[in-house]
This record gives sequence, C-alpha cells and structure tokens, in this order.
Amino acid sequence: MNTAVNGPNQRHALSQQRCYHHREREAVVRCPECGRYYCRECVTEHDQRMLCSACLVQWKQGRPSVGGPWIGRLILLAQGGLGFLVIWYAFYLIGRMLLAIPDAFHEGTIWDPGWWENQ
Ligand SMILES: [Zn+2]
Ligand SMILES: [Zn+2]
Repeated sequence: MNTAVNGPNQRHALSQQRCYHHREREAVVRCPECGRYYCRECVTEHDQRMLCSACLVQWKQGRPSVGGPWIGRLILLAQGGLGFLVIWYAFYLIGRMLLAIPDAFHEGTIWDPGWWENQ
C-alpha cells in the first residue's frame, strides 16, 4: 500500500520545501512539468494544473512531446491544404459532370442503353 503519493507524508514533505524562486517562502505547489516547488505567486493555473511561469511559456510554445511547435503547424497546414484540395477536386468533378452532360440528357435519350456505348 502506497500512501506516500497522496497521504499526509507528501503534505509534510511539501511544507519542508521552499519556492524555487523565493527561498524564504514556503512552497505550496509542485509544478507537474519540471517537478520543482513554488510558492503561490510563482505558479499559474492552466488547464486545471498549476504550472510555473517557465513551464507555462514552454507549454504555450507547444508541447515538446508532440515534436516541437513547427510540427503542429505543419500538420495544421497539411490538413488545411488537404481540405482545400478535396473541395477543389469536388468542384472540379461537378464542373466536369456539368460539362459532360450532353444535349441528349435534355432530350431524354441519355437513358437509352445504346447512348452510353456510343460515347
Ligand atoms: Zn515548471
Ligand atoms: Zn515564489
């Protein structure tokens, strides 16, 4: 049984810690990203987690685990480009279809099986 994580032992250990930036202050929060201890003024709540200012800046620049901020931008760009291509191709097909509709369609002879074989 492990009580060290959420038990009173951890709370006691935290009170022994000092803020990474303010050595005279008692730490109240441990940053989940870098694992350092901070006082209340040195952390900012973000996404229901208390992050230190350094980690918050890193978080805003993009998660390192994703592979850097430019990878995410590249994926977004590729998705946007792909979406544009799909839409463009759909309109291209519709345009081709409209152009390919022969006069026979309006005359009603397009439904004759022989019409398709002659194309
Ligand atoms: Zn941190
Ligand atoms: Zn502090």
